[in-house]
Amino acid sequence: MKLTVLGKYGPYPKQGGATTSYLMECGGKKILIDAGSGSLSRVQEYCRLEELDSVVLTHLHSDHCSDMFILRYALRDMVIPVFLPRTPEKEYGILHSCPCFHTSEISAALEILLPETNVKLSFCKTIHPVECYAVKIQDAGKIFVFSGDACRSDDLTEFCRGADVFLCDSGFLSAQENTGSLPHMYVREAAQTAQKAGVGRLLLTHINPAYQEEKLVEEATAVFKPTEVVKEMKQYDI
Ligand SMILES: [Zn+2]
Repeated sequence: MKLTVLGKYGPYPKQGGATTSYLMECGGKKILIDAGSGSLSRVQEYCRLEELDSVVLTHLHSDHCSDMFILRYALRDMVIPVFLPRTPEKEYGILHSCPCFHTSEISAALEILLPETNVKLSFCKTIHPVECYAVKIQDAGKIFVFSGDACRSDDLTEFCRGADVFLCDSGFLSAQENTGSLPHMYVREAAQTAQKAGVGRLLLTHINPAYQEEKLVEEATAVFKPTEVVKEMKQYDI
Protein backbone atom coordinates (compact mmCIF):
# COMPACT_ATOMS: atom_id res chain seq x y z
CA MET A 1 0.00 0.00 0.00
CA LYS A 2 1.13 3.53 -0.70
CA LEU A 3 -0.15 6.53 1.25
CA THR A 4 0.22 10.03 -0.20
CA VAL A 5 -0.48 12.96 2.11
CA LEU A 6 -2.42 15.61 0.18
CA GLY A 7 -3.45 17.76 3.15
CA LYS A 8 -2.53 17.49 6.82
CA TYR A 9 -3.86 20.66 8.43
CA GLY A 10 -6.98 21.23 10.48
CA PRO A 11 -9.25 22.97 11.06
CA TYR A 12 -7.77 25.39 8.49
CA PRO A 13 -4.63 25.20 6.33
CA LYS A 14 -1.33 26.92 6.69
CA GLN A 15 -0.38 29.29 3.84
CA GLY A 16 0.20 27.03 0.81
CA GLY A 17 -1.18 24.00 2.67
CA ALA A 18 -4.36 21.93 2.52
CA THR A 19 -6.73 20.37 5.04
CA THR A 20 -7.21 16.65 5.62
CA SER A 21 -6.92 14.43 2.55
CA TYR A 22 -4.98 11.30 1.61
CA LEU A 23 -4.60 9.21 -1.50
CA MET A 24 -4.27 5.49 -0.75
CA GLU A 25 -3.10 3.20 -3.54
CA CYS A 26 -3.61 -0.50 -2.90
CA GLY A 27 -4.54 -3.57 -4.93
CA GLY A 28 -4.31 -1.46 -8.10
CA LYS A 29 -7.02 0.91 -6.79
CA LYS A 30 -6.90 4.60 -5.88
CA ILE A 31 -8.94 5.63 -2.85
CA LEU A 32 -9.34 9.24 -1.81
CA ILE A 33 -9.66 9.36 1.98
CA ASP A 34 -11.29 12.66 2.99
CA ALA A 35 -11.34 15.63 0.67
CA GLY A 36 -10.49 18.78 2.58
CA SER A 37 -9.77 22.17 1.06
CA GLY A 38 -7.01 22.09 -1.57
CA SER A 39 -7.12 18.32 -2.02
CA LEU A 40 -8.50 18.20 -5.57
CA SER A 41 -5.72 20.38 -6.88
CA ARG A 42 -3.12 18.27 -5.13
CA VAL A 43 -4.42 14.82 -6.04
CA GLN A 44 -4.02 15.73 -9.70
CA GLU A 45 -0.26 15.75 -9.17
CA TYR A 46 -0.63 11.94 -8.91
CA CYS A 47 -3.62 10.96 -11.04
CA ARG A 48 -6.51 12.30 -13.06
CA LEU A 49 -9.71 12.78 -11.07
CA GLU A 50 -11.40 10.20 -13.33
CA GLU A 51 -8.88 7.60 -12.15
CA LEU A 52 -10.12 7.70 -8.54
CA ASP A 53 -11.89 4.39 -7.79
CA SER A 54 -13.72 5.49 -4.65
CA VAL A 55 -13.90 8.10 -1.90
CA VAL A 56 -14.10 7.47 1.84
CA LEU A 57 -15.21 10.36 4.06
CA THR A 58 -14.55 9.84 7.76
CA HIS A 59 -17.03 12.59 8.60
CA LEU A 60 -18.71 15.62 7.12
CA HIS A 61 -16.89 18.50 8.79
CA SER A 62 -15.77 21.02 6.15
CA ASP A 63 -12.04 20.53 6.73
CA HIS A 64 -12.52 16.88 5.68
CA CYS A 65 -15.05 17.13 2.85
CA SER A 66 -15.22 20.64 1.36
CA ASP A 67 -13.65 19.65 -1.98
CA MET A 68 -16.38 17.03 -2.53
CA PHE A 69 -18.63 19.97 -3.34
CA ILE A 70 -16.14 20.88 -6.09
CA LEU A 71 -15.48 17.32 -7.27
CA ARG A 72 -19.13 17.11 -8.35
CA TYR A 73 -18.42 19.80 -10.96
CA ALA A 74 -15.42 17.89 -12.33
CA LEU A 75 -16.83 14.37 -12.72
CA ARG A 76 -19.70 15.28 -15.07
CA ASP A 77 -21.01 11.97 -16.49
CA MET A 78 -18.94 9.67 -14.27
CA VAL A 79 -20.26 7.95 -11.17
CA ILE A 80 -17.89 7.23 -8.28
CA PRO A 81 -18.63 5.23 -5.09
CA VAL A 82 -18.57 7.42 -1.97
CA PHE A 83 -18.63 5.91 1.52
CA LEU A 84 -19.75 8.41 4.17
CA PRO A 85 -21.64 8.80 7.46
CA ARG A 86 -25.42 9.34 7.27
CA THR A 87 -25.25 12.57 9.32
CA PRO A 88 -25.19 15.60 9.54
CA GLU A 89 -28.30 15.52 7.39
CA LYS A 90 -27.62 18.75 5.48
CA GLU A 91 -24.17 17.82 4.15
CA TYR A 92 -25.16 14.20 3.57
CA GLY A 93 -28.24 15.32 1.63
CA ILE A 94 -26.23 17.48 -0.79
CA LEU A 95 -23.67 14.74 -1.51
CA HIS A 96 -26.32 11.99 -1.73
CA SER A 97 -28.28 14.00 -4.29
CA CYS A 98 -25.28 14.45 -6.64
CA PRO A 99 -25.71 12.12 -9.65
CA CYS A 100 -21.93 11.62 -9.84
CA PHE A 101 -21.72 10.16 -6.31
CA HIS A 102 -23.00 6.65 -5.57
CA THR A 103 -23.27 6.95 -1.80
CA SER A 104 -23.12 4.16 0.80
CA GLU A 105 -23.51 4.79 4.51
CA ILE A 106 -20.65 3.88 6.82
CA SER A 107 -21.38 2.01 10.05
CA ALA A 108 -19.19 0.20 12.55
CA ALA A 109 -20.52 -3.09 11.12
CA LEU A 110 -19.64 -2.26 7.51
CA GLU A 111 -16.88 -4.25 5.81
CA ILE A 112 -15.98 -3.54 2.21
CA LEU A 113 -14.01 -5.82 -0.08
CA LEU A 114 -12.96 -3.68 -3.02
CA PRO A 115 -13.99 -5.31 -6.31
CA GLU A 116 -11.32 -7.46 -8.03
CA THR A 117 -8.92 -7.08 -5.08
CA ASN A 118 -8.14 -8.51 -1.64
CA VAL A 119 -8.32 -5.01 -0.15
CA LYS A 120 -10.58 -4.89 2.91
CA LEU A 121 -11.96 -1.73 4.55
CA SER A 122 -13.53 -1.65 8.00
CA PHE A 123 -14.62 1.10 10.37
CA CYS A 124 -14.78 2.15 14.03
CA LYS A 125 -17.01 4.93 15.34
CA THR A 126 -15.01 7.64 17.08
CA ILE A 127 -15.84 10.24 19.71
CA HIS A 128 -16.28 13.57 17.88
CA PRO A 129 -19.01 16.25 17.77
CA VAL A 130 -20.46 14.74 14.56
CA GLU A 131 -20.77 11.11 13.41
CA CYS A 132 -17.22 10.07 12.51
CA TYR A 133 -15.38 6.82 11.74
CA ALA A 134 -11.80 5.64 11.81
CA VAL A 135 -10.97 3.54 8.76
CA LYS A 136 -8.80 0.43 8.55
CA ILE A 137 -7.38 -0.78 5.23
CA GLN A 138 -5.89 -4.27 4.98
CA ASP A 139 -4.02 -5.62 1.99
CA ALA A 140 -1.23 -8.13 1.38
CA GLY A 141 -0.73 -8.76 5.11
CA LYS A 142 -0.37 -5.06 5.94
CA ILE A 143 -2.68 -2.96 8.09
CA PHE A 144 -3.21 0.79 7.90
CA VAL A 145 -5.49 2.75 10.24
CA PHE A 146 -6.53 6.39 9.98
CA SER A 147 -8.28 7.74 13.07
CA GLY A 148 -10.44 10.33 11.32
CA ASP A 149 -11.15 12.98 13.94
CA ALA A 150 -11.22 11.36 17.34
CA CYS A 151 -10.93 11.75 21.07
CA ARG A 152 -9.10 8.93 22.85
CA SER A 153 -11.19 5.79 23.31
CA ASP A 154 -10.70 2.13 24.15
CA ASP A 155 -12.64 1.15 21.02
CA LEU A 156 -10.21 3.04 18.82
CA THR A 157 -7.21 1.55 20.62
CA GLU A 158 -8.58 -1.95 20.05
CA PHE A 159 -9.33 -1.13 16.40
CA CYS A 160 -5.67 -0.13 15.89
CA ARG A 161 -4.23 -3.32 17.36
CA GLY A 162 -1.36 -4.60 15.26
CA ALA A 163 -1.51 -1.85 12.62
CA ASP A 164 1.71 -1.32 10.69
CA VAL A 165 0.96 2.38 10.35
CA PHE A 166 -1.44 4.43 12.48
CA LEU A 167 -2.23 7.88 11.08
CA CYS A 168 -3.74 9.78 13.98
CA ASP A 169 -5.55 13.02 14.70
CA SER A 170 -3.18 14.89 17.00
CA GLY A 171 -4.99 18.14 17.42
CA PHE A 172 -3.71 19.39 20.74
CA LEU A 173 -0.58 19.91 22.80
CA SER A 174 -0.64 19.34 26.55
CA ALA A 175 -0.73 23.13 27.08
CA GLN A 176 -4.45 22.89 26.21
CA GLU A 177 -5.16 20.28 28.86
CA ASN A 178 -7.11 22.53 31.19
CA THR A 179 -9.37 23.98 28.54
CA GLY A 180 -12.17 21.41 28.98
CA SER A 181 -13.39 18.69 26.69
CA LEU A 182 -11.94 19.04 23.18
CA PRO A 183 -12.93 17.31 19.91
CA HIS A 184 -9.47 15.88 19.12
CA MET A 185 -6.74 13.85 20.76
CA TYR A 186 -3.84 15.35 22.59
CA VAL A 187 -0.59 14.34 20.98
CA ARG A 188 0.27 12.46 24.16
CA GLU A 189 -2.97 10.44 23.85
CA ALA A 190 -2.22 9.60 20.22
CA ALA A 191 1.16 8.24 21.33
CA GLN A 192 -0.41 6.29 24.21
CA THR A 193 -2.95 4.78 21.82
CA ALA A 194 -0.14 3.74 19.45
CA GLN A 195 1.84 2.21 22.29
CA LYS A 196 -1.11 0.29 23.79
CA ALA A 197 -2.22 -0.99 20.39
CA GLY A 198 1.28 -2.15 19.50
CA VAL A 199 1.38 -0.37 16.14
CA GLY A 200 4.51 -0.22 14.03
CA ARG A 201 4.65 3.50 13.29
CA LEU A 202 2.66 6.54 14.37
CA LEU A 203 2.08 9.36 11.89
CA LEU A 204 0.74 12.57 13.42
CA THR A 205 -1.77 14.60 11.41
CA HIS A 206 -4.61 17.16 11.69
CA ILE A 207 -1.94 19.70 12.51
CA ASN A 208 -2.99 23.06 13.84
CA PRO A 209 -1.07 25.68 11.79
CA ALA A 210 -0.39 27.65 14.97
CA TYR A 211 1.73 24.82 16.44
CA GLN A 212 5.42 24.15 16.09
CA GLU A 213 5.80 20.62 14.76
CA GLU A 214 8.96 19.99 16.82
CA LYS A 215 6.84 20.42 19.94
CA LEU A 216 4.34 17.82 18.71
CA VAL A 217 7.11 15.33 18.00
CA GLU A 218 8.73 16.01 21.37
CA GLU A 219 5.53 15.24 23.29
CA ALA A 220 4.73 12.14 21.23
CA THR A 221 8.17 10.54 21.20
CA ALA A 222 8.39 10.86 24.99
CA VAL A 223 5.72 8.10 24.96
CA PHE A 224 6.16 6.32 21.61
CA LYS A 225 9.45 6.58 19.72
CA PRO A 226 8.60 5.63 16.10
CA THR A 227 6.58 8.80 15.51
CA GLU A 228 6.74 11.57 12.95
CA VAL A 229 4.57 14.44 11.75
CA VAL A 230 3.44 13.72 8.19
CA LYS A 231 4.64 15.92 5.35
CA GLU A 232 2.32 17.10 2.62
CA MET A 233 2.98 15.58 -0.82
CA LYS A 234 5.16 12.90 0.78
CA GLN A 235 4.51 9.22 0.04
CA TYR A 236 4.68 6.49 2.69
CA ASP A 237 5.06 2.81 1.87
CA ILE A 238 3.05 0.55 4.14
ZN1 LIG B 1 -13.99 17.06 12.60
